[in-house]
Amino acid sequence: MAYDQSAMNELHWLIDMVQTIEVGLVVLDRNYDIQLWNGFMENHSGVSPNSIKGSNLFEQFDYLPATWLKQKMESVFLLKNRAFISWEQRPYVFQFGNYRPITGRADFMYQNVTLLPLSSLTGEITHISMIIYDVTDVAINKLQLKAANERLEHLSQTDGLTQLHNRRHWQICMQREFDRHARYGEPTTLVMFDIDHFKRINDTYGHIAGDKVIQHVSHILKQSLRETDCAGRYGGEEFSVVLANTDAKSALNFADRLREKIAASEMLYESAKISVTVSIGICDIEEELENSGKWLANADHALYEAKQAGRNCCRIFEG
Ligand code: GH3
Ligand code: MG
Ligand code: MG
Repeated sequence: MAYDQSAMNELHWLIDMVQTIEVGLVVLDRNYDIQLWNGFMENHSGVSPNSIKGSNLFEQFDYLPATWLKQKMESVFLLKNRAFISWEQRPYVFQFGNYRPITGRADFMYQNVTLLPLSSLTGEITHISMIIYDVTDVAINKLQLKAANERLEHLSQTDGLTQLHNRRHWQICMQREFDRHARYGEPTTLVMFDIDHFKRINDTYGHIAGDKVIQHVSHILKQSLRETDCAGRYGGEEFSVVLANTDAKSALNFADRLREKIAASEMLYESAKISVTVSIGICDIEEELENSGKWLANADHALYEAKQAGRNCCRIFEG
């Protein structure tokens, strides 16, 4: 009698706890008919246990991914093993709203779900339990961290003034293209250019005007690029571009068009019309180039020759 009483108490407590615990609990039979639906499920679905008991899970919630979920559940019945559904695999199973004030940014409740086989007294798996955890806080934190990391990565690779690749990141891209050439042998050409007499711009119109000229030139450069080209701000008023699948002759075409576009354009600054020209050095990858540093040095040498030749012109490196 005393034992029965304590067992009854325990059962009563357990039922109370199942009802109030902040975790979703559902029990399904072999036909996916709902046998248990706890308070958490009622609160978030708006459907009471009494009205849902005995009805089919997939008929009640026709948005559920039935084929996929049944396949998972069948394997739980068959293998007598639990299965997990992570929010990273599928953000939610049940379409529940998210009411948390702190994580109000989420439109729905992110969920981890465990599928648990339930055995009868004879050891047969006759039922399956779904345990639904609200992991909205964890998911939102992780997603925000990921977004912040992506923003940081972009910032660490980008030049603030021009939004081109910064020197460090551009050099990584350049090395990648150099290595690609070593493997596949496709023609690849490096183009470096520098604004002519830029000191005069700064001296005449001031540093802010100088910055605007740098932005203006990089804008024209961006308009001239293809998807596969990798362009960076190499230094103050020096730019560098790797043209993939391009030999020196085609690169000269690109460079000359770019040079003409820049020379023909005017930038308005406080009612002054500013025009600039650029000098351009070009170098494709030769067989005997031992490393990417030499490639860069050769392009820089060609740029130096373009300056020597009177500026506003292009030169191809010739060994
Ligand atoms: P050259 O035709 O030989 O290239 O002559 P230059 O006057 O352009 O000479 P050089 O390339 O050596 O000098 C570049 C100047 O650009 C030096 C520096 O004061 C200025 N500069 C470098 N970075 C910036 C920047 O971010 N903003 C501005 N406004 N000026 C810069
Ligand atoms: Mg210059
Ligand atoms: Mg310079």
